[in-house]
Amino acid sequence: MLNEKSKQLHEEAKKFTPGGVHTSIRNIDPRLIFTKSEGAYIYDADGNKYIDFQAAFGPYILGHNYKEVNDRVIESLARTDLYGVGTTDLEIKCAEKITKYVPSAEQVLFCNSGSEATYHAIRLSRAITNRKKLIKFQGCYHGWHDYVARNMLSEPHMIGKRDPGSAGMMDEAIDNTLICTFNDLDNVERTLVENKNEVAALIVEPIPHNIGCIMPEVGFLQGLRDLCSKHGTILIFDEVITGFRHDLGGYQNVSGVTPDLTTMGKAMANGFPMAALAGKKEYMERFNTNSGGDVWFAGTYNGHAIGTSATIATMEIMETEPVHQHIFALGDRMRNGIREIHDRLSLKAYVAGFGSVWTTYFMDFEPKNYTDLMQNDAKMYVTYRKKLLERGIFKMPMNIKRNHISYSHTKEDIDNTLQAIEDVLKELVQS
Ligand code: PMP
Repeated sequence: MLNEKSKQLHEEAKKFTPGGVHTSIRNIDPRLIFTKSEGAYIYDADGNKYIDFQAAFGPYILGHNYKEVNDRVIESLARTDLYGVGTTDLEIKCAEKITKYVPSAEQVLFCNSGSEATYHAIRLSRAITNRKKLIKFQGCYHGWHDYVARNMLSEPHMIGKRDPGSAGMMDEAIDNTLICTFNDLDNVERTLVENKNEVAALIVEPIPHNIGCIMPEVGFLQGLRDLCSKHGTILIFDEVITGFRHDLGGYQNVSGVTPDLTTMGKAMANGFPMAALAGKKEYMERFNTNSGGDVWFAGTYNGHAIGTSATIATMEIMETEPVHQHIFALGDRMRNGIREIHDRLSLKAYVAGFGSVWTTYFMDFEPKNYTDLMQNDAKMYVTYRKKLLERGIFKMPMNIKRNHISYSHTKEDIDNTLQAIEDVLKELVQS
């Protein structure tokens, strides 16, 4: 597969932008320049077509450039947009819809990115509890800001240690974020006891998709709920990936565990910039500066008609069409197909997943936490991904990331991908 035009354009991009990319993780070779997207497919500047499973890190639950959603956004923009001091009918309708489905969402506030949503959730938790500390899990990702950008994809020797994700972070923010091990309730309890009356919030991806698909063990999420209630700590479910993708009510609706606050983004607006913070009314009212609220929430573009109309349209399509049924069935087809290939080739690999999401770990047992993932053969994944890319299969760049199936993918796309996976793995096993 030729990437000459992409290479040339990337050289051009580097003149104007550091590294030529607008997000650090995009600094991974080959840096392709994309010119077109449609449904399950994306096209690069050299005219190569790919079946896309990266889904721009997850938003495309219906598919790229999804006509019904785009049309609704265009229609809305022909009539309305954004008003500064003022509220749109779209904001009201969108907030009402979210409260109808998401169990923890008695009230909702809109912002533009998942990072903003987690930032506000943490600030609110600190205000409610009058405490400083935060618990997050090793390997989970909750955005780029100082409160959470530590201990993400840590090197083995930095697991659980002080591992800021960026230079320039504030020491106080880093040191007030405590790191726990996913699926280890004893570890969480010990941390809460050792920091008695100091932990404002615990933030968790109910399924840590930022390290692929680590499933919570039976009772783990409920255990977090119970521990947080016992210790007066706010439980935040970061459903930026799981929300809408696994269920209209998020993974909290699937698991039956209701957090105090929820952050959402990505799939809610099928690729348009949109995010939300939701939670119990008594907590959310702290943002109501009109009636004694003292927590500041702001953003020029919050509630823009683009994001609200896209969310309403995406949710309506999920309500009226078998979106989850389709993507879950294709998810099963993909996972089962890959497992059969692994068996045929006697390969040491584990296929994890839930619903429309799947991950291949090159290790021979089910990982329960980030430390287990150190058994994964990262080198093997890099070659695997590169060879799949050459065959037009576009997957997440890093070895322990997830892949997503959208409503636009067909059985044929899955079967063609399975064929490519089998061909690549055969080559790798033989070499
Ligand atoms: N939370 C989770 C679980 C995420 O996966 C992400 C983004 N990958 C974020 C928060 C941050 O969202 P954004 O990139 O929109 O700021």
